[in-house]
Amino acid sequence: MAPVDELVEGVRARRRAAVSQAITLVESSKPEHRDAARELLAELNRSGAAESVRVGISGVPGVGKSTFIEELGTQLTGSGHRVGVLAVDPSSARTGGSVLGDKTRMARLAGDPNAFIRPSPAAGTLGGVARATVQAMTVLESAGYDVVLVETVGVGQSEITVAGMVDTFLFLTLARTGDQLQGIKRGILEIADVIAVNKADGDREAEARSAARELAGALHFVHGKGADWAPPVVTCSGLTGTGVEEVWRRVLAHREHLGVEGLEARRARQQLEFTWSLVRDELAQRLRRSRGVAAIREQIRQQVLAGELPATVAADQILAAYDAGE
Ligand code: GDP
Repeated sequence: MAPVDELVEGVRARRRAAVSQAITLVESSKPEHRDAARELLAELNRSGAAESVRVGISGVPGVGKSTFIEELGTQLTGSGHRVGVLAVDPSSARTGGSVLGDKTRMARLAGDPNAFIRPSPAAGTLGGVARATVQAMTVLESAGYDVVLVETVGVGQSEITVAGMVDTFLFLTLARTGDQLQGIKRGILEIADVIAVNKADGDREAEARSAARELAGALHFVHGKGADWAPPVVTCSGLTGTGVEEVWRRVLAHREHLGVEGLEARRARQQLEFTWSLVRDELAQRLRRSRGVAAIREQIRQQVLAGELPATVAADQILAAYDAGE
């Protein structure tokens, strides 16, 4: 690993190898790397990251995320932007391999000199992945990437996590009508700022359009009349590129709606929430590592399973063991 000042200089000079190394550094969970990473980020933050557009993109596997991102990213680099793509995939943390953001899935964009694609870190916990991703975002922004797309899969907490690190959250879905709409988790609709019914091409186009209308109607119930931003529902095809530009216009419209102050406030709130989530994550890890807890873990397990110890008392004993020291 190159010394921190070299990395800082390399990142600012937009050298790919330095960007890549800097991200590896912030992803690392090794204690000696943590200090270097902190130094790196402090230095990069000092210069003030360029104003960037941060967009989260989610949807179930197969919805067409990578195809869409490749198309959108290529359109954006074509109009002079520099595009970074990051991924938050907690399942890759478990398997050690990463699916999202995989270069082979976005071969065209990966070969684009104005794009930088980084697969999800395999950092062990969602909190760890989130920490690495937020820091990687700083590295990319310092390297002049003015659009950062953060991809995630449509599974619960990871979407909430990504929504907490971007300016605009884009939800990709497929044509669904009637009962199928129930299948779209309510929580997702609550955090989505823009919704796109993807794969609106060929004979699916009409179906996609009517699904979009129905979804827009359903959203009315979620957000109510008083909501200050009604998430637009549009159709697009990542495959043919139709409608992708319109999706991007809606993303920018959402930013416009937030305004400079609104955006600053949103980012500031995200920083505060992120601070606490880092603390919670660290505490959870310390709890897992605690020797005091390890010493009584098995005994507590047996007593609780046997019905001899109520959960509340067991929890108190575990916390007392933790507080008693390492
Ligand atoms: P992801 O798992 O969400 O990243 O989805 P992919 O981008 O890998 O796409 C899954 C499958 O859907 C692939 O076979 C794609 O070729 C296909 N696909 C993706 N986007 C579109 C689209 O806009 N229209 C159509 N017809 N097929 C698509």
